[in-house]
Amino acid sequence: MNMAPAPYPIGTSGTPWGDAERSEWLSRQTRRRSYASEVLGVIERLRSRFDVEEYGCLDYGPDRYPLMAIRSRNWNDDLPVVLVTGGVHGYETSGVHGALRFVDKHAEAYAGRVNLLVAPCVSPWAYERIHRWNRNAIDPNRSFHDDSPAEESTALMRLVAPYRDRALIHIDLHETTDTDESEFRPALAARDGKPFEPAGIPDGFYVVDDSANPQPEFQQAVIGAVEQVTHIAPADDKGEIFGSPVVARGVIEYPLTQWGLCAGVTRAPYRTTTEVYPDSPRVTPEQCNRAQAAAVCAAITYGLAAR
Ligand SMILES: [Zn+2]
Repeated sequence: MNMAPAPYPIGTSGTPWGDAERSEWLSRQTRRRSYASEVLGVIERLRSRFDVEEYGCLDYGPDRYPLMAIRSRNWNDDLPVVLVTGGVHGYETSGVHGALRFVDKHAEAYAGRVNLLVAPCVSPWAYERIHRWNRNAIDPNRSFHDDSPAEESTALMRLVAPYRDRALIHIDLHETTDTDESEFRPALAARDGKPFEPAGIPDGFYVVDDSANPQPEFQQAVIGAVEQVTHIAPADDKGEIFGSPVVARGVIEYPLTQWGLCAGVTRAPYRTTTEVYPDSPRVTPEQCNRAQAAAVCAAITYGLAAR
C-alpha cells in the first residue's frame, strides 16, 4: 500500500512559509559540528604551503563565520585559473573535506601550470548544522545571481569576479544524500507551499553538466577518474538520475546560470558539479573525499590538455 508522506512538521500544507514558520525552522537547527576545528583548523595548517585569505564573513547573531579561500602560492596571471568550490551545501561533507584533501595532497603537483583558487566551505553555518540552507532558510545554490538573497553566494561571486570571464575550469563539489529525500526536499516543498514529489536517491556518483554549454568529453574524463574510487550511479527505469534525463553515463544537465547554481558563477569553458553518494554501504567517508579529489585532478588534467 502506498502511504502519502506525513506532512512536514512546520507550516500549513499548500501555504508558503512566512516569518513565523522560518523562525520555527531556525529554532529547530542545532550546532552539530565545529567549523572552527574541522575546517578552519585544517586551513591553518595549509598556510605554510598556500596563500590563505578571508574573502568575507557571515555575521549570524552570536555566531561569526569567516569565509576562507586558499590560493596557489606564486599566483601568475599568465596561467589559467582553476576554481574549486565545496560546502555550498554545508551538509555535504565530502564537498568540504574533498576540496581540502585535494589542496593538501594534490594541489602542489599543478604548481607553475595553473592558478588554483579553492573555497572549501562556502556555507559554514550550514556545515555546522548539517543543513542545506543558510540561516535564513535560503538555498545558497539557487542564489548565485544579481541581488542575491544569500550572503554566502554574494561573497563568493565577489571573490571570483576578477576571473569570471577568464577562468578555465570550475568544479563545484556536492553530494546527493538520503536526507535529500527524507528531509531537505520535503522541507523545500513545505517552505514554498508545494506538494512533495518523491524522486528516489541515485545509488552512486554522478555529475551535472551545463545544458547551455555541454562538455561531454570533459564530464566523461571526470566520471572515468572517479570510477576508480567509487561506483557510478546507473540510470533509473525512466532513464533518469534524480529526475533528469541521463545524457551519458553518470551525467545529467541543468541550466547552471539560469538556476543560479554555483557552477554557473564563472564563464569557464569547463564546468561541472560533482554529486558523491555517501550513504551507500559500499563507500566510506574517506572514499568520498578521495572521489572528490580525483574529480578535481581529472578536471584539471582534461582542461589543460584541451586548452
Ligand atoms: Zn549540493
